[in-house]
This record gives sequence, structure tokens and C-alpha cells, in this order.
Amino acid sequence: MIQSVNSVPAFDIKQQYAAIEAEVSHAVLEVLSSGRYIGGPAVEGFEQQFAAYHGVDECVACNSGTDALYLALRALEIGAGDEVITSPFSFFATTEVISAVGATPVFVDVDATTFNLDVTQIAAAITPKTKAIIPVHLFGLPVDMTALMAIAQDHNLAVIEDCAQATGASWNNQKVGSIGHIGCFSFYPTKNLGGCGDGGAITTNDSAIAAKLRVLREHGSKVRYIHEEIGVNSRLDAIQAVILQIKLRYLDIWNKQRQQIGAYYYQYLSQIPGIIPPQELLGGEAVWNQYTIRVSSEDRNGASSKYRDWVRTQLQDQGVSTMLYYPRPLHLQPVYESLGYQPGQLPISEQACHQVISLPMFPELKQEQQDKVIYALKDCFS
Ligand SMILES: *Cc1c(COP(=O)(O)O)cnc(C)c1O
Repeated sequence: MIQSVNSVPAFDIKQQYAAIEAEVSHAVLEVLSSGRYIGGPAVEGFEQQFAAYHGVDECVACNSGTDALYLALRALEIGAGDEVITSPFSFFATTEVISAVGATPVFVDVDATTFNLDVTQIAAAITPKTKAIIPVHLFGLPVDMTALMAIAQDHNLAVIEDCAQATGASWNNQKVGSIGHIGCFSFYPTKNLGGCGDGGAITTNDSAIAAKLRVLREHGSKVRYIHEEIGVNSRLDAIQAVILQIKLRYLDIWNKQRQQIGAYYYQYLSQIPGIIPPQELLGGEAVWNQYTIRVSSEDRNGASSKYRDWVRTQLQDQGVSTMLYYPRPLHLQPVYESLGYQPGQLPISEQACHQVISLPMFPELKQEQQDKVIYALKDCFS
């Protein structure tokens, strides 16, 4: 059985398209012949469906997850002189936008088992300049939003959830992106809800913020050729909107498949000494955009990435492809040198960068392929 699986890719988005090809092709051709390529009923329809899925009043679609975060900060009027607390263990976009609006990212270390912001360390990082917190539901695993919202409330801070890797995840039966003041989503093709190109969306229950977002995404203009603000051009294409409408109907099924694969991995990998699988918090329902384990050995526990790199090579030799999210923490990126962070300052994030391996994870991953991943890892650690 094992021999029948030649290689296991880290992800495979072509299979998903193949399963819904007829529906998608029909919808795309309809848009093409309609001549409505920007805005219109396709985009408005998707916004309504995405808002309803999350149980929120408003959804504003835009061109990417990065733009969603940028527009959220702009709508909250966060800029020069302000500080925004976030995770150093995320994709660069999370902090890039903080810098892009002129504010300063303040990094708080992550928790070793969830890879998410260590909520217990947030209070100590708050200053009079702090305006917002951006929790990242990394790898599809939700942050403890109960604890985080309590801190935000105590200090009167806005919460912008970075849900780029967690569309459909929930915390205490509430969808991520509907718990903070603003939720930001990415429809990059490999995300849980992925389009066929770039796309993003912002969710909120605050109608004033939503109105502001709609102006900002359209050149700061409410009435055509009358510009009230410096905005951007960040719209979701109609073609992407109809594709996302179709895919949204399958999202729960696909996320359920990811959860089954995650549970299967956990069952076997948690028994292998040297492998630390990700662990969900009580109350959280993860949707595993990535399934990221940590590997360590007693003599080389995290001081360098050599051991992890060796494991990845062994896996690749056995035909198992893996990904590296993320090899360098954000506080130690060259562009942030001027912020003055030193190696060792956020030790859990730094260690994670040396230890993480993201295993093959996509809804269509077959049982034999999952077995192959598990056997290949067992081999490395025996
Ligand atoms: C993908 C991603 C983004 C950015 O989304 P894009 O649509 O690629 O701009 C932001 N934050 C996180 C955590 C992401 O994974």
C-alpha cells in the first residue's frame, strides 16, 4: 500500500479545481459575457454571503489579505506615532501594513504549543501609544480570543484579527473574524478559501468602519471624482467573486477534511519522541491551513536549524515535500533592524523558526499519502 504512493506534494490546488471545474467554468464564462468585471452583483453577492457565513453585519471585499489589513488600520486611523502589538511569527504582511501606515509594530513572543501570540505577555507591551492588537490565527489555529479581548477592553485597544490562514476556524463556536473589531481575510489560492488569483475581505459589525473601508478601497471616493481621502485601488474582481461564491459553499467540507487529516497526523505523530505536533486550545476549532510540527533532538534543541533541515532532506528523499513557515522571525528581519530587537529577545519565536516543518496538508490528501508522511517521519526518528 505504501509503495503505491510515489510522492506527496506539500499542497495541490489543481485537485480542488478539478472537483468543481464545471461549476466554476460556467460562472466565470457568465461573468466574461456579462461585461461586468469590476464590482456589481457578483462582488456584492459574495460580500453578503461571506458576512452571513461569519454572522457579521458587514463584509468589504478587496484585492488581497495584505490590503485588508492595511485598509483596517487606515479605517481605524492608525498611523504615525502609534504602536500596534502583534506576533513576530507570521507572514511579513502582518507587520508590513503596520509600517506602511506609518505606525510601529511591537512584537510580543508566541506560545510554544500554538505558535500564536502569548496572550499573557501582551499587557506588559502596552504603552500610551498602543492603539491596536493584531492577533494572527496562525496555521488555522485560533488565538484564545476570550483572554485577548479582555486585555483589549481593559486598555481600550482595537483588535484586528489576521484570519488569512484561518477562514472557517472558530473560538467558542464563534467564527474568527467576527470576534475582534475587524477581521481580515486572504483568498490567496492556497488559503482555506482560495480564489484563482489574489483577493481579500474585511468583516466587521461596525457600519461606520465598513463605510470608511468602502471609501478607502476606492481612491478615497464616495461620489465618483470627488475624493475625500487618500485611498487605494483595492477591489475584488467579479471573476474572483463568483469563484469564491462557489467555493464558500464547500468551505466547511474542505475544512472538515483538513481537521480529519490533522487528527490523523496528531494520533501518530504525538507518539514519536522528538516531534511536537501543534496543539489546539480548549474552545478552539482549528482549520489547518498548514500542519506545522516542531522537531528537536536532545543535543540540538533549537539553537540552530541544522537538525530540522536534515529531517526535511530525509523526508524529501522519501518523496515527502514539506514547507518552511517561517525561517526568520519578523523582529529580526533586515527591514526592522532600526527597531532595535536583538537575537534572543523573543526566544520562542526564534526557536520555532529553527524547528518548524509544515507537512503536506490539503483537503484531498489521501489516507495512503498521510501514512507515507507518518512512516517517513517515523524513519527519521527511529
Ligand atoms: C497570506 C497572509 C497574508 C496576506 O494575504 P495576501 O492575500 O497574500 O496579501 C497576511 N497574513 C497572513 C498570516 C497570511 O498568511
